[in-house]
Amino acid sequence: MTTAVSAYAATSATGPLTKTTITRRDVGPHDVAFDIHFAGICHSDIHTVRAEWGQPRYPVVPGHEIAGVVTEVGSEVTKFQVGDRVGVGCFVDSCRECDNCKSGLQNYCTGTGMVGTYDAVLKDGEKTYGGYSGAIVVDENYVLRVPDSIPLDAAAPLLCAGITLYSPLRHWNAGPGKDVAVIGLGGLGHMGVKLAAAMGANVTVLSQSLKKMEDGLRLGANEYYATSDPDTFTKLSGSFDLILNTVSANLDLDSYVSLLKADGTLVELGMPEHPMELAAVPLVSMRRSLSGSMIGGIPETQEMLDFCAEHDVRPEIEIITPDYINEAYERVLASDVRYRFVIDTESLR
Ligand code: NAP
Ligand code: ZN
Ligand code: ZN
Repeated sequence: MTTAVSAYAATSATGPLTKTTITRRDVGPHDVAFDIHFAGICHSDIHTVRAEWGQPRYPVVPGHEIAGVVTEVGSEVTKFQVGDRVGVGCFVDSCRECDNCKSGLQNYCTGTGMVGTYDAVLKDGEKTYGGYSGAIVVDENYVLRVPDSIPLDAAAPLLCAGITLYSPLRHWNAGPGKDVAVIGLGGLGHMGVKLAAAMGANVTVLSQSLKKMEDGLRLGANEYYATSDPDTFTKLSGSFDLILNTVSANLDLDSYVSLLKADGTLVELGMPEHPMELAAVPLVSMRRSLSGSMIGGIPETQEMLDFCAEHDVRPEIEIITPDYINEAYERVLASDVRYRFVIDTESLR
């Protein structure tokens, strides 16, 4: 027995997402079932459905920024009750046995690898479908608790964009006295500015143009520069301890690495379709590092939600209905998002 649920799915790399029906499994002993109230649109959804990361398993129901309210819990569930406000991010399972899983870094699982919230397959062969739908069933160990003070629509983008920026900011010790730059003021980038500012770092936005300057400063940045202006790179040479690159397309990494201080680190967060080049000289000459980071584990995601509750950090969102998803995708691709589209999934419940 399964439950039929309405959803929006992509059936090819080129066609629009359309309304369809999917099934959700019955609630097992360790499962939490919840009604999805809101789902954020992440640029990764677009990379996936457009086959930019390889051929997905169509139909794809994207959505890994999911927030809702629990409707049923399995007989052995201990962490959640009916009525709880919950969220699910980018993965719904992992091997649970490797060193990384045991230490709460399920996102870096070396056993089965993390099982994606959509376009992945669970141990028993069940294909995963994401949050552009009315309801979902997830093992309780992969469900997060949304703090009471965070509205569900604002909670959704925290589950991917929020944790993806929180984790590297914490790992590389962003805080007072640290000069942090965020490249790209989109869904991820705007969370980076807010979180780094809340941690007390000195924050600079590096955006393609000055169009969003007022927003950037309002979100908490101390400085804002346009990367289309070559003077930016001269002026800011050797300025940052940490640079977080959230751009979804290829950049000239050499120029950005040159903005790091000695021993500074550029962390790649964007996952563009094609490989990027990097010359050795800017890296070796100042003992700089190039790294990467992918979302965060379950304990750190909960820590991030609690941090956002405590520090009043909320994403800036534009709420849409599901029939606007295709237009929203075009606007994300045109860098015309202020700063995360969130689908109100009421009509899919
Ligand atoms: P987004 O909302 O589209 O933001 C990306 C921003 O990058 C844009 O708003 C734009 O900012 C800038 N940009 C876009 N095209 C550019 C270009 N050609 N040259 C220079 N700048 C450009 O996307 P997102 O949802 O934040 O996701 C960003 C990337 O991170 C995607 O590749 C996504 O797959 C990846 N991602 C990674 C993780 C992870 O765990 N590492 C998690 C989620 C997403 P400006 O207009 O300010 O320049
Ligand atoms: Zn995402
Ligand atoms: Zn594992």
